[in-house]
Amino acid sequence: MTRSIRPLVAGNWKMNGVKADLAIAAEAAKGYDAALKAAVDLAICPPATMLYPMTAALIGSRIATGGQDCSTQAAGAFTGEIAAAMLADAGASFAIVGHSERRTLHGETNATVKAKAQAAQTALLVPIICVGETRDEREAGKALAVVKKQLRGSIPEGATAATLVVAYEPVWAIGTGLTPTAADVAEMHEAIRADLSRLLGKAAAAGVRLLYGGSVKPSNAVELMNVAHVDGALVGGASLKAEDFLAIVRAC
Ligand code: PGA
Repeated sequence: MTRSIRPLVAGNWKMNGVKADLAIAAEAAKGYDAALKAAVDLAICPPATMLYPMTAALIGSRIATGGQDCSTQAAGAFTGEIAAAMLADAGASFAIVGHSERRTLHGETNATVKAKAQAAQTALLVPIICVGETRDEREAGKALAVVKKQLRGSIPEGATAATLVVAYEPVWAIGTGLTPTAADVAEMHEAIRADLSRLLGKAAAAGVRLLYGGSVKPSNAVELMNVAHVDGALVGGASLKAEDFLAIVRAC
């Protein structure tokens, strides 16, 4: 945790959630008490179909919402795509871009992710840009180099601490129950901060929130959230249970 930075815990619901699951968000809102509000920012990124009702259900709770992806394009003949401005119109404050499932299953390159991050910023959404190495890349000792390349290719120029969140999510830790050691997370987050300094300047980089994601759960959250330069979490599976999500928030 970088003490001068207000942490953010964002839940990534992925392709899970229908209207009935608004109850999970309502329960999270109930548990997000004054003490937690004073210390940690919270966001839930549901499927796009739920953004509008969820934002409406969370009015007054100070829990923000976000999309899980956005188009590189602003509008037009792009069947199936959702523009960043549409997410904003539905109430979103954030947009996850470059999640490894998008990079792997939908062939998104760094250039695509950068264009999406730029589109999000244009719509006044804060992009949560995901980076992370595969198991093979880590075992080959290439994790730092891979993430550095992703950062350089995916971060829009001119981003500031207020307009950017970066999530380090080792691909092999996502949904597997496996996590890197605290030392590995510390090494990576320090390297990301240093790289952001080179890309954005020291002052901007010092304030960018660096989230860790990949099998974060109540049992490992305290250890992970106490690592230097970890300013919160991007939580998948555990964000679908209000009790677990809140336990992770309390760990911050
Ligand atoms: P997980 O997913 O917490 O289920 O591992 C994290 C993510 O993909 O953002």
